Amino acid sequence: MAAADNCLFCRIVAGEMGACIYEDDLVAAFEDIQPQAPHHTLIVPREHLASSAEFAPQHEALAGRLLLTAARLAREKGLESYRLVMNCGEEAGQSVFHIHLHMLGGRTFGWPPG
Ligand code: AMP
Ligand code: ZN
Repeated sequence: MAAADNCLFCRIVAGEMGACIYEDDLVAAFEDIQPQAPHHTLIVPREHLASSAEFAPQHEALAGRLLLTAARLAREKGLESYRLVMNCGEEAGQSVFHIHLHMLGGRTFGWPPG
Protein backbone atom coordinates (compact mmCIF):
# COMPACT_ATOMS: atom_id res chain seq x y z
CA MET A 1 0.00 0.00 0.00
CA ALA A 2 1.41 3.42 -0.96
CA ALA A 3 3.06 5.28 1.91
CA ALA A 4 4.01 8.94 1.71
CA ASP A 5 7.56 10.05 2.47
CA ASN A 6 7.87 11.77 5.83
CA CYS A 7 4.30 11.01 6.89
CA LEU A 8 4.09 10.36 10.62
CA PHE A 9 0.98 8.20 10.44
CA CYS A 10 2.35 6.14 7.51
CA ARG A 11 5.33 5.37 9.75
CA ILE A 12 3.09 4.35 12.65
CA VAL A 13 0.96 2.14 10.38
CA ALA A 14 4.18 0.56 9.05
CA GLY A 15 5.11 -0.34 12.63
CA GLU A 16 8.16 1.94 12.69
CA MET A 17 7.02 3.72 15.84
CA GLY A 18 4.26 3.56 18.40
CA ALA A 19 1.97 0.66 19.04
CA CYS A 20 -1.23 0.04 17.15
CA ILE A 21 -4.10 -1.26 19.28
CA TYR A 22 -6.00 -2.50 16.24
CA GLU A 23 -5.03 -3.43 12.68
CA ASP A 24 -6.78 -5.00 9.73
CA ASP A 25 -6.37 -4.96 5.97
CA LEU A 26 -7.70 -1.40 5.56
CA VAL A 27 -7.20 0.52 8.80
CA ALA A 28 -5.14 0.77 11.97
CA ALA A 29 -5.80 2.45 15.32
CA PHE A 30 -3.54 3.85 18.03
CA GLU A 31 -3.85 6.10 21.05
CA ASP A 32 -3.45 9.86 20.54
CA ILE A 33 -0.13 11.08 21.97
CA GLN A 34 -1.83 14.19 23.44
CA PRO A 35 -5.21 12.90 24.61
CA GLN A 36 -8.00 15.47 24.78
CA ALA A 37 -10.25 13.16 26.81
CA PRO A 38 -9.76 10.09 29.06
CA HIS A 39 -10.17 8.00 25.90
CA HIS A 40 -8.70 9.38 22.68
CA THR A 41 -8.00 6.94 19.87
CA LEU A 42 -7.09 7.67 16.26
CA ILE A 43 -8.34 5.38 13.47
CA VAL A 44 -6.42 5.79 10.21
CA PRO A 45 -6.38 4.22 6.74
CA ARG A 46 -3.35 2.08 5.93
CA GLU A 47 -3.30 3.88 2.58
CA HIS A 48 -1.94 7.41 2.62
CA LEU A 49 -4.72 9.91 1.92
CA ALA A 50 -4.03 13.47 3.05
CA SER A 51 -7.56 14.34 4.12
CA SER A 52 -11.20 13.41 3.58
CA ALA A 53 -11.10 15.82 0.61
CA GLU A 54 -9.33 12.95 -1.20
CA PHE A 55 -12.10 10.42 -0.59
CA ALA A 56 -13.37 9.06 -3.90
CA PRO A 57 -15.91 6.34 -4.78
CA GLN A 58 -13.25 3.61 -4.55
CA HIS A 59 -12.81 4.48 -0.87
CA GLU A 60 -16.36 3.52 0.11
CA ALA A 61 -15.28 0.36 1.95
CA LEU A 62 -12.42 2.19 3.64
CA ALA A 63 -14.64 5.06 4.81
CA GLY A 64 -17.10 2.53 6.23
CA ARG A 65 -14.33 0.59 7.94
CA LEU A 66 -13.05 3.73 9.67
CA LEU A 67 -16.48 4.27 11.24
CA LEU A 68 -17.10 0.61 12.05
CA THR A 69 -13.68 0.40 13.73
CA ALA A 70 -14.38 3.48 15.83
CA ALA A 71 -17.70 1.99 16.97
CA ARG A 72 -16.03 -1.35 17.69
CA LEU A 73 -13.22 0.18 19.75
CA ALA A 74 -15.69 2.38 21.67
CA ARG A 75 -17.75 -0.74 22.45
CA GLU A 76 -14.62 -2.63 23.57
CA LYS A 77 -13.68 0.29 25.84
CA GLY A 78 -17.17 0.25 27.35
CA LEU A 79 -18.04 3.71 26.05
CA GLU A 80 -21.76 4.35 25.55
CA SER A 81 -21.19 8.02 24.78
CA TYR A 82 -18.35 9.30 22.66
CA ARG A 83 -17.50 11.76 19.90
CA LEU A 84 -16.13 11.03 16.44
CA VAL A 85 -14.27 13.88 14.73
CA MET A 86 -12.47 14.14 11.41
CA ASN A 87 -10.83 17.48 10.77
CA CYS A 88 -10.36 18.29 7.09
CA GLY A 89 -8.02 21.17 6.28
CA GLU A 90 -5.99 23.57 8.39
CA GLU A 91 -8.89 25.89 9.19
CA ALA A 92 -10.86 22.94 10.55
CA GLY A 93 -7.95 22.07 12.85
CA GLN A 94 -6.18 19.37 10.85
CA SER A 95 -2.49 19.19 11.77
CA VAL A 96 -1.47 15.74 10.48
CA PHE A 97 -2.19 15.27 6.80
CA HIS A 98 -2.97 11.56 6.77
CA ILE A 99 -6.70 10.94 7.32
CA HIS A 100 -7.56 10.10 10.91
CA LEU A 101 -10.84 9.71 12.74
CA HIS A 102 -10.68 10.83 16.36
CA MET A 103 -12.69 8.73 18.82
CA LEU A 104 -12.98 10.65 22.09
CA GLY A 105 -14.81 9.55 25.22
CA GLY A 106 -14.89 9.52 28.97
CA ARG A 107 -15.96 13.09 29.56
CA THR A 108 -18.74 15.55 28.68
CA PHE A 109 -18.26 17.50 25.44
CA GLY A 110 -19.61 20.91 24.52
CA TRP A 111 -21.37 21.86 21.32
CA PRO A 112 -20.72 23.61 19.01
CA PRO A 113 -17.02 22.73 18.90
CA GLY A 114 -14.55 25.64 19.09
P1 AMP B 1 -5.61 16.75 13.83
O1 AMP B 1 -5.29 18.04 14.53
O2 AMP B 1 -7.08 16.49 13.64
O3 AMP B 1 -4.83 16.61 12.53
O4 AMP B 1 -5.14 15.59 14.80
C1 AMP B 1 -3.82 15.14 14.83
C2 AMP B 1 -3.68 14.35 16.10
O5 AMP B 1 -2.53 13.55 16.02
C3 AMP B 1 -3.55 15.21 17.36
O6 AMP B 1 -4.60 14.90 18.26
C4 AMP B 1 -2.18 14.81 17.90
O7 AMP B 1 -2.13 14.79 19.31
C5 AMP B 1 -1.99 13.44 17.31
N1 AMP B 1 -0.60 13.01 17.17
C6 AMP B 1 0.46 13.73 16.70
N2 AMP B 1 1.57 12.99 16.72
C7 AMP B 1 1.22 11.75 17.19
C8 AMP B 1 1.93 10.54 17.46
N3 AMP B 1 3.25 10.42 17.22
N4 AMP B 1 1.25 9.49 17.94
C9 AMP B 1 -0.09 9.60 18.20
N5 AMP B 1 -0.81 10.70 17.97
C10 AMP B 1 -0.17 11.78 17.48
ZN1 ZN C 1 0.53 8.89 5.49
